[in-house]
Amino acid sequence: MRFEDLHLIEPLIRAVHHEGYERPTPIQEQAIPHVLAGRDLLGCAQTGTGKTAAFALPIMQRLVAAGPQKGPQRPIRVLVLSPTRELAAQIGESFAVYGRNLGLHHTVVFGGVGQDAQTKALRRGVDILVATPGRLLDLMQQGFIRYDHLEVFVLDEADRMLDMGFIHDVRKVIAKLPTKRQTLLFSATMPADIQALSKMILINPVRVEVTPVATTAEKIDQSLYFVDKGNKRALLVDLLNDPTLTRALVFSRTKHGANRIVEQLDKAGIPSVAIHGNKSQNARERALAGFKGGETRVLVATDIAARGIDVEDISHVINYDLPEVPETYVHRIGRTARAGASGRSISFCDNEERIYLADIERLIRMKVPVVSDHPYPLGPGGSRSAPSAPSRHQPQHQSRHRPPTRQHAPRNTHVAPPASSTPAPSGGRPVVHDHRASMVARPTGGGGGGGGGGRGGRSGGGGGRGRGFGR
Ligand code: AMP
Repeated sequence: MRFEDLHLIEPLIRAVHHEGYERPTPIQEQAIPHVLAGRDLLGCAQTGTGKTAAFALPIMQRLVAAGPQKGPQRPIRVLVLSPTRELAAQIGESFAVYGRNLGLHHTVVFGGVGQDAQTKALRRGVDILVATPGRLLDLMQQGFIRYDHLEVFVLDEADRMLDMGFIHDVRKVIAKLPTKRQTLLFSATMPADIQALSKMILINPVRVEVTPVATTAEKIDQSLYFVDKGNKRALLVDLLNDPTLTRALVFSRTKHGANRIVEQLDKAGIPSVAIHGNKSQNARERALAGFKGGETRVLVATDIAARGIDVEDISHVINYDLPEVPETYVHRIGRTARAGASGRSISFCDNEERIYLADIERLIRMKVPVVSDHPYPLGPGGSRSAPSAPSRHQPQHQSRHRPPTRQHAPRNTHVAPPASSTPAPSGGRPVVHDHRASMVARPTGGGGGGGGGGRGGRSGGGGGRGRGFGR
């Protein structure tokens, strides 16, 4: 299918071609006709699937088709709610890029920065407002925002809103919106709370679902290192000494952890930058720009700060800590496989994190291939399902100083074929015996588990029964 087949107007087609998009992504193919037709929509899709264009393109087309609103000032006609500042900024950029030939006005409001520039933009008048919930409520309470002419409401990453504790703020905002509107709700996962919310705010929605979370993981060349907590830093340094890790996004569970990793890498002569919620908005934007522009090779992020980061050509995602929520693992590794590209991820797992690993593997329905021969294997107290490798019992202080290897194999070599792998007691876990392989070569021909499938089987309308929240 081509964008032309979606009956988009010429200025929008020109804009997407200008971006180099050749054809619509699956979510765009599925969602655009319904949004153009004015339907409510429940989109089960995560960042990286092209979902922003899936709503931005048809929304803007509808605004243009309806013509400008009468009155001295442009009224807000579209509200997009996003859980994080980064994602809000990226959605704003997308409206700018896709709407470059249309003359619509948009602005983005979020907290952590002064509100003057935001209120000035609102006073000048915007057609499209992209906002995070907290700042939006502030501005609403101060009387800067009116919804009399609102036509479309988009709730993006609804599950993340829930995780971040914003759902009450979201409900307060929704209560102020006109009941006659088009509503689009996007969420990567559909926990019960989100399903309940969707029933309340969507009227007879179409449901579109793409790239289920479990299948995303299959495209990614994943590997796993069992390593003691105290050795993670040395292992990270070793891995990053490999120049084939051209653009690495390292995930830390905590902000302090992210700062510590940056300090430790710095001591090892590897420059990196941290991005997390304690950094000022300016510092976060600088960090992101440096990473996008290629000046920063290693970005160390927490999950919340990384949410919505859309950087092309991330060569590796490194899970320094495994996330407690298994879906987060998929979100993280998905950063290295944007818009259909395949990517690589490396995860560290210490003893305490095995429980998280089990949850992750259940979710993705595969065993993450283990790199068994590396200089920092789990100590005697932590022996586990990873088989013993010759280097395993080497004193750690010796192995730590083993020079990092720079001799790399092409993809798909240096990999112990499953038949010759030491069987892992956990069953079916593919094993890579040479740690070098994991940096450049696919650790295994495939996961041990069944994979596949995803969460299909749920389709169809969903039939909302009237809206809640002030309706
Ligand atoms: P999103 O899921 O909206 O965050 O989009 C993820 C990435 O895919 C962004 O970098 C978009 O620029 C890119 N993208 C969106 N639609 C397409 C398309 N049809 N073809 C190629 N890339 C796209």
